[in-house]
Amino acid sequence: MNNPTSKYEKMNFRFCGTSGLQLPAISFGLWHNFGSVDLYENSRKMILYAFERGITHFDLANNYGPEPGSAEETFGRILHKDLAGYRDQMIISTKAGYYMWPGPYGDGGSRKYLLASLDQSLQRMNLDYVDIYYHHRPDPDTPIEESMLALDHAVRQGKALYVGISSYNSEQTREAMRIMRELRTPCIIHQVKYNMFDRDIERDLLDTLKEFGLGCIVFSPLAQGLLTDKYLNDIPADSRAAKPNGFLSKDAITDQRRAQIKKLNEIAQSRNQSLAQLAVAWVLRQETVTSALIGASSIEQIDDNLKVLENSELSTEELKQINDVLQ
Ligand code: NDP
Repeated sequence: MNNPTSKYEKMNFRFCGTSGLQLPAISFGLWHNFGSVDLYENSRKMILYAFERGITHFDLANNYGPEPGSAEETFGRILHKDLAGYRDQMIISTKAGYYMWPGPYGDGGSRKYLLASLDQSLQRMNLDYVDIYYHHRPDPDTPIEESMLALDHAVRQGKALYVGISSYNSEQTREAMRIMRELRTPCIIHQVKYNMFDRDIERDLLDTLKEFGLGCIVFSPLAQGLLTDKYLNDIPADSRAAKPNGFLSKDAITDQRRAQIKKLNEIAQSRNQSLAQLAVAWVLRQETVTSALIGASSIEQIDDNLKVLENSELSTEELKQINDVLQ
């Protein structure tokens, strides 16, 4: 790795809630662009570039692909081929909670599913343990206690150092944390969607996370690419909205949305930064937010997003301008 010391000096690390674990202000997720359908060489370049620039945290899930599972395989391959010897400088997370295999044991939040899926993830990545293991989403048909006891077991087995929850609402988070505190399980992080177009967590979840000393890593801080200059005029052929496997629907890009994006882009320009950088700065302004979990399809995008670290303070006036656009 080039400049092994300075990359850590340039990255801004934040403590994950009241835990002793620090995460980079920008983490990297492998939801899109790391499947068996994607170009391996591009996936490899992005992982190596991100790590070289101080992004120590890589986020996966059992079902990332497509094919489901293939993002973990791609990541494992890169890790062992190109980054052997660096495992202890990395935080690797994975999750289970969405559909993964047929029958009643491959979806949801049962002990059976969560523990079997973790074994499969470790096998695909060829790892002994992950740093963070998440329940990917709340399961209304499984008692929260069962899912939490499964996460606790993963820690006690030595297969996860820490655990977390994702997309639990405030009430579900309280119940989960009550159990985890009783068990003294290191449940230290909540992964949740947050960006200028989706501010749900401001209602009460952020306060709950603070109350319980939980860290917060926010996914889709760029609203899957909407909060960049990519869709200002059209839908580029190589964009997530145009791709058959992407989760961003073309219908999300309405005229009203595009008008907002244009105004936000002007605010970004007045700060001499890209809209992507402004969008990341905006989520990082929250003191409860530990890390912005970005995705990318090229190293140029990672490079662009990382530049936010040079200009991430937002004035009251700029925040007001942004709020006015979002009204
Ligand atoms: P983002 O909102 O950061 O969107 C990433 C996409 O935006 C990229 O793939 C790229 O799209 C585009 N983009 C990124 N940077 C730029 C740039 N500088 N200029 C132009 N376009 C850019 O995050 P994701 O939605 O990808 O989510 C990030 C991660 O969060 C996932 O990988 C996953 O780890 C996690 N996640 C977790 C969920 C959960 O339920 N817990 C749910 C969803 C995500 P394009 O391909 O069009 O170039």
